[in-house]
Amino acid sequence: NDMHVLVTGGAGYIGAHACKALKAAGFIPVAFDNFSTGWRQAVKFGPMFQGDLMDRASIEAAIAMYKPVAIMHFAALSLVGESMTNPAKYWRVNVNGSLNLIEAALDAGIKNFVFSSTCATYGELDGVALNEDTPQTPINAYGGSKRAIEMILRDFEKSHGLNSVIFRYFNVAGADPEGEVGEQHVPETHLIPLMLDAIDGKRPALTVFGSDYKTKDGTCIRDYVHVMDLVDAHILGLKWLLEGKESRVFCLGSGNGFTVREVIEASRIVTNREVPIIEGSRRPGDATSLVSGSVRAIHELGWEPKRSTLQQMIGDAWRWSKQPAFTE
Ligand code: UDP
Repeated sequence: NDMHVLVTGGAGYIGAHACKALKAAGFIPVAFDNFSTGWRQAVKFGPMFQGDLMDRASIEAAIAMYKPVAIMHFAALSLVGESMTNPAKYWRVNVNGSLNLIEAALDAGIKNFVFSSTCATYGELDGVALNEDTPQTPINAYGGSKRAIEMILRDFEKSHGLNSVIFRYFNVAGADPEGEVGEQHVPETHLIPLMLDAIDGKRPALTVFGSDYKTKDGTCIRDYVHVMDLVDAHILGLKWLLEGKESRVFCLGSGNGFTVREVIEASRIVTNREVPIIEGSRRPGDATSLVSGSVRAIHELGWEPKRSTLQQMIGDAWRWSKQPAFTE
């Protein structure tokens, strides 16, 4: 009666936190990862399977070994900036990898998919609060590739009866408050870890990417959600599918937008240290504002995003940054 779940990208930031939540919910998470960006030391909650979504045989081998009841698909290239300069890589890896995974799963009779999508599928929408019905007009190849995978999942629902819960994440931040896993990217590109490194002197300063946006202080607005809240929603989404409910899209955000300067100010308060900053130019591909206006996950899944305050996210990330880093 062991319920295995194949977690692609299970050694990455969100995937590793999802494995922790799956184990706590009584599932056995199988961390499937090619370790291009993930960490072996982050695989703590179930078996590790080294494979690559571009190698369909490796997916089939993992499925044959563990016979998962569902797939949680996190593995992807996810850097907006890089996707602007190397779109082919994003389209090839994200779309072809997902297609291999979907086909291998369906061939093995697995029809339940929880998919990690993004509010980067929306694009530049001038400050409107975003929800599941907002038209998707991505402005970078990362968002474009994720939107394409959403469309592929819908097509396979019609052709093969695939069931999916698609989560469109806003800005995921923070770390496991118990300190078992946390965020560690090489290179790091995300605002909060870069800011904490600048505070700690591990980097000279944080560069603010653009101060001339049409927002209250000129910097971009994002909606930050705690990674443990985010993965809680995935457990609810998995149960939704296992109960036989229909495919559904859910936005996962806190509903609160903060400018880059507001995040800097919150970090100053949480750490009681100054943030050295440099005013830089805009980063290509950045939308002015991305804020969730959806309560669908709260109403329909019973999701409670109870840790998604800037204070807790920055505090948990700060504590995590003080621990020894993963080395492999
Ligand atoms: N940002 C910044 N300096 C940095 C990294 C990020 O000013 O060194 C800004 C970025 O322009 C965006 C916000 O912080 O407005 C969040 O960026 P991040 O890369 O963390 O997430 P994204 O919104 O790209 O998913």
